[in-house]
Amino acid sequence: MARRFTEPKLVLASHNPGKLVEIAALLDPFGIAVVSAGDLGLPEPEETGDTFVANAELKARAAAQGSSLPSLADDSGLAVSALGGDPGIYSARWAGPEKDFRLAMEKVNRAMGDAADRSARFVCVLSLAWPDGHIESFEGTVSGDLVWPPRGDRGFGYDPIFIPTGGTITFGEMDPDRKHAISHRAVAFEKLVNACFR
Ligand code: IMP
Repeated sequence: MARRFTEPKLVLASHNPGKLVEIAALLDPFGIAVVSAGDLGLPEPEETGDTFVANAELKARAAAQGSSLPSLADDSGLAVSALGGDPGIYSARWAGPEKDFRLAMEKVNRAMGDAADRSARFVCVLSLAWPDGHIESFEGTVSGDLVWPPRGDRGFGYDPIFIPTGGTITFGEMDPDRKHAISHRAVAFEKLVNACFR
């Protein structure tokens, strides 16, 4: 049995503005007050894990310990089939120190060359950590195909090159409410809600 979340407030252990907006929107219906790790001046821990779960858990634990509040962290990325799952946990790092996702998308496109298999998935692990060390983690994925050139300026990160399976527009072109309903983050969040918030 997962531990139920009954506190009135939590820390979002992310410094990524795109993720903060999406997770705050997902939490909105639950009436939980949300503060970000950045607002509390918490440092961004180094992502030394070699899986999405390990990195989500280390971020959640660091923020819970640093704030004495429960903390929710997201580790996510794009896994491209033709690249053996890259950039994967290195998705943010492929954008370089300037966090330039135009560059990261170009790197992905160049690395894929003319590979016939354009499939990819977004993966998200959400970890909810309490200050006493207890932690719960949930994974969500969404499958799709990559397109070039990038399309749309909504969303963030690799959204402009990703079309979810069965769709015709990229996450970058999609209405944010629609993306929030079907994304890897939404799938992980649904699992978290069912296990801890109901
Ligand atoms: P990290 O979890 O902070 O290491 O960063 C994950 C990176 O994966 C983000 O900076 C984005 O580049 C990418 N990513 C994760 N989720 C999404 C998404 O919903 N859309 C586009 N890119 C994403």
